[in-house]
Amino acid sequence: MLADSWRVRLAGEVGARSLRELGEDRLSAKKGCRNAVELLARITLASERTLTQRMRLGAAVRPRTALTGDTLPAAFPAASAALRAGALGYDSAAAIIDTLDPIRSRVGDLNLERAETALVAAATGPTVESPLPFSADEVRGQARVWEQVLDPDGTEPVEERAMQARGISAGLTRDGLVHRKMALLPEIDAKFETLLNAYLNPRSKPTFTDADPDAPKDPRATAQARHDVFASLIDGAARSADAPRIGGAAPTVLVSVRQADLDRRCGSGFIEGCDAALSMRAVEQFVCAGGTQTVLIGDDGRLISLSTSDRVFNAQQRRAITLRDGGCIIPGCTIPAAWSEIHHVIAHRDGGKTETCNGVLLCWFHHRTIETSGWQILMIDGVPHVKPPPWLRGGRSDAETPWRRSTKSRTQLADQLEAASAAESRAGSSPTRC
Ligand SMILES: [Zn+2]
Repeated sequence: MLADSWRVRLAGEVGARSLRELGEDRLSAKKGCRNAVELLARITLASERTLTQRMRLGAAVRPRTALTGDTLPAAFPAASAALRAGALGYDSAAAIIDTLDPIRSRVGDLNLERAETALVAAATGPTVESPLPFSADEVRGQARVWEQVLDPDGTEPVEERAMQARGISAGLTRDGLVHRKMALLPEIDAKFETLLNAYLNPRSKPTFTDADPDAPKDPRATAQARHDVFASLIDGAARSADAPRIGGAAPTVLVSVRQADLDRRCGSGFIEGCDAALSMRAVEQFVCAGGTQTVLIGDDGRLISLSTSDRVFNAQQRRAITLRDGGCIIPGCTIPAAWSEIHHVIAHRDGGKTETCNGVLLCWFHHRTIETSGWQILMIDGVPHVKPPPWLRGGRSDAETPWRRSTKSRTQLADQLEAASAAESRAGSSPTRC
């Protein structure tokens, strides 16, 4: 910490000797540099940003000179003394000075001194409140509290600026991804973060999955998992009964694809209003969850015929499936029913019908990856059963791995428990596809 002290004091000294009002006599000019930062950068090789902060700190902890020429104590005397003694680190000093200095003119020297003294005591510890010195982050947090207490209206202008600057930018397509910039107000971000974390936090899983030996470890990076929770959240919001209707229908994303490409399962689709092409797997997910409408266009570009959309599960079917499945049926997944899509277990092209005994709830991620993840789904007597991918079977072969009934519905789980305790076995039932 003594090294921190020397760095700050050196920057303060060079800054004071390079003040513009010193004219040709200023140190930086004598050394052939534009200003103190350039001079310091040449000596220390540190970055401009670091040096600017060091100089700001250095100025705050070095004795000041009055207009009369008298020497006055430093603007932050307690921090200055602790820094010199090597008791206060650079980051903690920065946290105190950078937070308190801007409010000095509004709160007065006396109040500022009170806050500074308390913060330096906490940073150099021990204090009554803490047996250990506060870390720099804790000091910054504490400094923000002091700022709020001393200058309660001070954040208003910041808030006004933030209100003006809030926004979500339009998307820019690059490398198959749409990039957006989000500038969220703190309370909105806090709600967003809480919502994401609620569905990412393993502790939020119902207890029956905790005891589930097949519950998989999530192979996704945290950022990817957050994206997927967001995807499910959007799905849920679009489907919500409260969502505004557009022409009588829930907000619908229109994807176009050529029939021949869809049949061959290659090529790509296009979303109205989006530059990026859509992979065939994404198109198939749209078809599975949202249905299709065949539009026949003649060689001359005329619309010849239009099929009705009949592959979408209607509201009654969704309610029934929701009651049966309770949420994404992949063990360990925490996405609730309202945010899940309905997957046709047997695809329409293979003769699968849009009926409750062929539809199961899957979250966006498990739906998108159902053909590649290795999870298998089978309807046995109209009830969804799953089989985990090979790497989760504990060395057992496909034949040795039993189909497990999968539901997140509490009423269904209660039924299962009751059935188990009554020692009723389903061993006799043989898998039948409905
Ligand atoms: Zn899922």
